[in-house]
Amino acid sequence: MFPWGGERRFNAYSHYCRTLFGGRVQKLPVDAGFSCPNRASRTQGGCTYCANNAFSPSYLAENEEIATQLENGKRFFEKRYPHKNGYFAYFQSYTNTFAPLPVLRDKFEAALQVPDIKGLVISTRPDCLPSEVLDYLSELSQRTHLTVEIGVESFHNETLAHIHRGHTVESTFEAFEKLHSRKVSTGTHLIFGLPDETPSQWLSDVQLLNQLHPQFVKFHQLQIFKNTAMESEYRDHPGRFHPLSADEYVRFLCDYLERMSPEIVIERFSAEVPPRYLAVSQWNLLRHDALVRKIEEELERRNTYQGVAL
Ligand code: SF4
Repeated sequence: MFPWGGERRFNAYSHYCRTLFGGRVQKLPVDAGFSCPNRASRTQGGCTYCANNAFSPSYLAENEEIATQLENGKRFFEKRYPHKNGYFAYFQSYTNTFAPLPVLRDKFEAALQVPDIKGLVISTRPDCLPSEVLDYLSELSQRTHLTVEIGVESFHNETLAHIHRGHTVESTFEAFEKLHSRKVSTGTHLIFGLPDETPSQWLSDVQLLNQLHPQFVKFHQLQIFKNTAMESEYRDHPGRFHPLSADEYVRFLCDYLERMSPEIVIERFSAEVPPRYLAVSQWNLLRHDALVRKIEEELERRNTYQGVAL
């Protein structure tokens, strides 16, 4: 038994759901029809890697009612994962706090009315959390299982500027402080492989992740999508990128886990999208399940676990 009470060598999301809900809780992506402030105005065309359509399941249609999308999602996942203990509505596409409060309220409350929805996951940017929205999220988190997921992506301002994220590391910390001070649970994602960054930098950055202290984290290897600014950059300046092989990625993640707070729950170790969206196939690592098995084997071989080096 490890410090988080689970038997795996990392603090797995599956263990969290089993402890709280008795088993798997399936996230159902919904598209609420929001846009993103970063695509429209702050920088030219948004993040250089942005390809939101690559992450949307085929059943999603933004013009359908939230309840219809969720019912379609239930049917979609029913065959793949028959044994579930309910669902979370996952507001995933673009920036899901980028609308006036009454609009946000309508969408989120509509999701909560759907049978078997146990809570919400709301994905957004650090610079899109005005105080009236924060107050509403705080109130919402008292009556449902709410996670606000903030894209951190990198802990380096030079990188954030280079990839046109349109916010800084400081604004990331500020957003987490505001959410945590209102007792709103947070999740985040990080990308390993952004231009000019190196594995040794990512390894030092784990301290900043521990300081940020989200409740949940997702790790993504950089994926370069077709028809993005990053695709052109990769073609013109491949030397700015540091791709890792699957085995290197596994060893890196194990080094990272050993230094990471045991309290942070891990949702994913890599991203998976249909290969037709990818401009560069070398980033297409193993399927997620196979990657997780390799990580567990490597931790077993080392006889270490998440947080052992702290
Ligand atoms: S914040 Fe998200 S939706 Fe907006 S430009 Fe960046 S990747 Fe695209």
